Amino acid sequence: MTNRYDHRRGKTDPPRKNDFRSNKKHRILKRRRFALSVLVLLILIITGAIGIYSISTHIMDNYDDAEEFNEFVTDHRDAAELPQCFSSNTDKIQYGDKLSTAVRLPKTRNAAVNNAMSAMSASMISGFEKKYAKSEKAALMVDYEGYMTDDVYGIAVHKDIFEEKDDEMVIVDSQVFTRSFVKKSGRETGGTALLKDGYKDQLSQDILDALTDEYGDNLSSHAKEHVSDTSENLNSFLLADSGAIFYFDEGTVLKKGMGSASVILDMSVIEDFLQDDPADAPVDKNKPMVAITYDDGLNGPLEEELLDCLEENGAVATFFLLGTNVANVSDSENILKRMLKQGCEIGNHSYSHPQLTKLSPKAIREQADKTNDLIEKLSGEVPTLFRAPYGAKNDKVIKTYDMPEIGWSYDSLDWKYRDPKREFNDIKSAGNLDGEVLLFHSIHEPSVEASKLIIPYLRARGYQLVTVSELAEYRYGVTLENGRSYGPDFFDLEDSEKTPEISY
Ligand code: ZN
Repeated sequence: MTNRYDHRRGKTDPPRKNDFRSNKKHRILKRRRFALSVLVLLILIITGAIGIYSISTHIMDNYDDAEEFNEFVTDHRDAAELPQCFSSNTDKIQYGDKLSTAVRLPKTRNAAVNNAMSAMSASMISGFEKKYAKSEKAALMVDYEGYMTDDVYGIAVHKDIFEEKDDEMVIVDSQVFTRSFVKKSGRETGGTALLKDGYKDQLSQDILDALTDEYGDNLSSHAKEHVSDTSENLNSFLLADSGAIFYFDEGTVLKKGMGSASVILDMSVIEDFLQDDPADAPVDKNKPMVAITYDDGLNGPLEEELLDCLEENGAVATFFLLGTNVANVSDSENILKRMLKQGCEIGNHSYSHPQLTKLSPKAIREQADKTNDLIEKLSGEVPTLFRAPYGAKNDKVIKTYDMPEIGWSYDSLDWKYRDPKREFNDIKSAGNLDGEVLLFHSIHEPSVEASKLIIPYLRARGYQLVTVSELAEYRYGVTLENGRSYGPDFFDLEDSEKTPEISY
């Protein structure tokens, strides 16, 4: 086979001297390719597009050792020229005789973003190694585009997989994943979480128009489907200062073999569709979500540990607190304020943990008020929910308390087992947890240890960890009402057998 890549060094290597010459030729070719890609890029900039970068690198030089693989990686990245606004990266380049990987992802000041990136990296590498275990030679290449607005980090992760074909490396899989994070909290946002309701029809049309302008005859006959309001393809977009960038995987809006596509809608166009305050919109209705609840606090140090873990994972939880325990912790004011600052929700779990069904309305009222007053005095905010101790409630309790009463749909039985591994394994085998309310207790050390396994695990599985009120609003479309009880019958989705699996 003759082509411009025949300078390549193979197993029948020419002597070293020729190597040098062919390397030089290689560089010249690279320069020409570079000049060409600059030209292409200029055209794209002028016409307002960002994408089709992968076309120029669909077929690349082979490599036979670590050094050549490094060159391969550099060539691929140079050709793509993805804009990266973050100051530092993690970059893992690993050459292997059969499988090689090069994963470059951003590093930010936010631990939650960095943790999400490293979980993504691990998942991409293990997924690749599994899928291509039998391949003679394949390479996973991951690189990213980064954007920042005042409120949000936007990261588009480009994944290309090369496999050896006719002694060349050819792209066999090309995908783009977008991830957005609220800067302040590290909570993941993005996709439709950033859009106002009712955006779909007009936005789809605007995107289709922009794609048509951009790609013309290269649009596939299915393009409309992939930007229509019935699909969820609009989820793949990022916010930049200049506008919103929408990404489409290979084989969707463009004809086969044309690579992935992206199109930018100017801020003046997208503005009307965006939430007013992106930092306040960290939940995406179209992605799975679960609410972890912790009863019986405060303990003090244990909630601090939990808050650290939640913060590092861009997660929030709901704490159902006992008045008497709040009163007994010397630092309670700071802990309560930290909970609210991180976006957690505080609920009332009575003052002294009595069986409320056995109390008079007056005594029930006292349990409610004393706890609410104390928490308001310390934190500045009144609890929004309540949970009856032992789950013991009846109409009298629910009406007298006059707050939304929250049960649970998954009981960890953590108070009984006190075994982090068991609690973790139970979660792993629990099936789909989308829409569920999980019950734990923040006063037991093993529950906190279990949470340190469970929280990153759920995040890596693609669950958004939300408060109970967020779960009600975004998953069930309901604003919780005073004097009503929400139990396992409420927090239950039909058709939720399958565990969501994120495959990057
Ligand atoms: Zn309790």
